[in-house]
Amino acid sequence: MGGPDYSSIVVGGGFFGASLAAHLAGFQERVLLVEREPALLQRASYSNQARVHNGYHYPRSLLTALRSRMNFDRFVDTYRSAIVNDFAKYYAVGRVFSSVTAAQFKAFCERIGAPLKPAPGAVGRLFNPDLIEAVFEVREYAFDSSILRQEMDRQLDRARVEVRLQCEARKVRSAGQHLAVTLRRSTTGSEDELTAGRVFNCTYSGINELLRASELPPLSLKFEATEMALVHPPKELEQAGITVMCGPFFSVMPFPTRKAHTLSHVRYTPHFSWDVRAGGDPVGKGPPGPSRFLHMVKDASRYLPCLSGSRYVDSLWETKTILPASEADDSRPILFKAHHGLKNLFCVMGGKIDNVFDVLQEIDEMRARGELS
Ligand SMILES: Cc1cc2nc3c(=O)[nH]c(=O)nc-3n(C[C@H](O)[C@H](O)[C@H](O)COP(=O)(O)OP(=O)(O)OC[C@H]3O[C@@H](n4cnc5c(N)ncnc54)[C@H](O)[C@@H]3O)c2cc1C
Repeated sequence: MGGPDYSSIVVGGGFFGASLAAHLAGFQERVLLVEREPALLQRASYSNQARVHNGYHYPRSLLTALRSRMNFDRFVDTYRSAIVNDFAKYYAVGRVFSSVTAAQFKAFCERIGAPLKPAPGAVGRLFNPDLIEAVFEVREYAFDSSILRQEMDRQLDRARVEVRLQCEARKVRSAGQHLAVTLRRSTTGSEDELTAGRVFNCTYSGINELLRASELPPLSLKFEATEMALVHPPKELEQAGITVMCGPFFSVMPFPTRKAHTLSHVRYTPHFSWDVRAGGDPVGKGPPGPSRFLHMVKDASRYLPCLSGSRYVDSLWETKTILPASEADDSRPILFKAHHGLKNLFCVMGGKIDNVFDVLQEIDEMRARGELS
């Protein structure tokens, strides 16, 4: 019997699929990456808050905080050209409804070795003291997703990965020793079937869509239709990013790709959600809307009054994909499921960008055990 067309087919050209494909090509002969959009990194890897996490966000999950601390320097070193750190980053702790007090947050940061110091007085005075207990200056950066995309294009090119854009994987099936993937080119509508030794489903919010179309069991995931408002912030915040912890609060962060800031709000950013465990299904839900920018800015201005001077630009809409574990404690583990429903079909997902290193580590460990070649 002949060999397959490819050693691996990676479905989904977001940051995870692109990174994985480049990594696999380091030891596999022929790797194909397929993406249904006209370019790589157009979906969640573009429409996110662009925060390079450094642990501060996760006082409820020590493990995620520590992994973030480890991955932060590695991410910054590896993707230096995409890193934006020409702004100051502050974490503020709410006085009411907060899951942490300022003293607890400080102790937590010290425990994970994340640098923090009291914010300068002029910054502290921007906040409403009745609602904010303390403001800290921290070390956290942003990334420019369009530079990250260019970096991934170069990595894939160097690694000789074949990339097919505007190409959708419709289904996966077992084909003797191999797997067969039906691919549809959106430019022509033509379909063909290619075989591979391994298939990696890295489609994030599309993971269950591909599984269902392949008549395989869906994964236990929750999905949220999210909106982040893109704003031009008031001049006091032009060189700043702010996160108010840890409860029904908000973040305003530079979004370098659009030279604007994102404003997200724990209550208003998720428009609606559906949960596979409860039998929920995204099909037929339609797009969310209209924008909730006014709700976001009205509530956030209670804590940070100058935010009322923000000018709305646009909204970023994306389906957030959440693992059950993240719901309980806000942790961000990776999903790495080998042989899901079919031998050699892998489902891979990370709840945040820097988690990619955890995925690559899983691959290396499988190789070391002789389970992947
Ligand atoms: C609102 C929001 C805010 C976030 N903020 C942050 C943050 O500040 N920092 C952080 O680190 N992380 C953040 N994240 C998480 C981060 O965006 C994701 O962890 C990451 O982008 C996932 O990358 P991915 O490659 O798995 O997904 P994606 O980038 O979505 O890539 C999946 C790709 O698969 C393609 N695809 C889907 N189905 C098919 C198919 N059948 N055939 C071919 N292609 C297909 C899609 O077009 C897409 O390009 C945020 C996420 C959201 C939604």
